Amino acid sequence: MEKALYMDDCYLKEFEATVESTKDGKYVVLSQTAFYPVSGGVANDTGVLAKGDEEFPVVYVGKFDDAISHEVSKPGLKPGDKVTGKIGWERRYKLMRLHTTAHLLAAIMHNKAKALITGGQIEADKARMDFSLEDFDRGKIEEYMQLANKLVQTDAPVKVSYMKREDALKIPDMVKLANKMPPNVGTLRIVEIEGIDRQADGGCHVKSLKEIGKIELLKVENKGKDNRRLYYMVSD
Ligand SMILES: [Zn+2]
Repeated sequence: MEKALYMDDCYLKEFEATVESTKDGKYVVLSQTAFYPVSGGVANDTGVLAKGDEEFPVVYVGKFDDAISHEVSKPGLKPGDKVTGKIGWERRYKLMRLHTTAHLLAAIMHNKAKALITGGQIEADKARMDFSLEDFDRGKIEEYMQLANKLVQTDAPVKVSYMKREDALKIPDMVKLANKMPPNVGTLRIVEIEGIDRQADGGCHVKSLKEIGKIELLKVENKGKDNRRLYYMVSD
């Protein structure tokens, strides 16, 4: 599999790569990439692949057969072409802020209410989190949001590291997503909000909490006996 540069540097906005293969003129696999493919409930990056002065807009990025595939809206790239990848940064940065927010909220809900996070979806313009909680109280959820905003003000650092799977899974609460254990690999990528949360995670995050800005609770829904859903957004 090609190198996924975003794993070690979530702030990399531009990179050089060689086209390894193309399919149907629009699905491009590169020697390395900083484009995040849709995965883990988080939306993909967009941007461009530039070959000299010619630009090929990247409209979708997905993982297929273990390769990160860039869907471009214009044909013409061929194996061996040297390209510069440019990430649509405004969108990506928003997704990073929302993703770190999701980890922060999950940690609070887990610690305060023993809620289990059962799912989530993060798009640049909307984000939701599903959780399992018997006693539902909107006031409590609002309290958790206030606490989240207070924690943002502490500006705790967010760090990425790697750990052996067997060691990681010995740490209580390391994997909070019910039914979503990390894939069976020897080394896990760990995202840590210092002093608050540690998760096995393959996504892009801000490097300290203040970058999140202000977290707003938009809506809370009952989705059956124990299932709840909340919608949130971040602003400057
Ligand atoms: Zn995550």
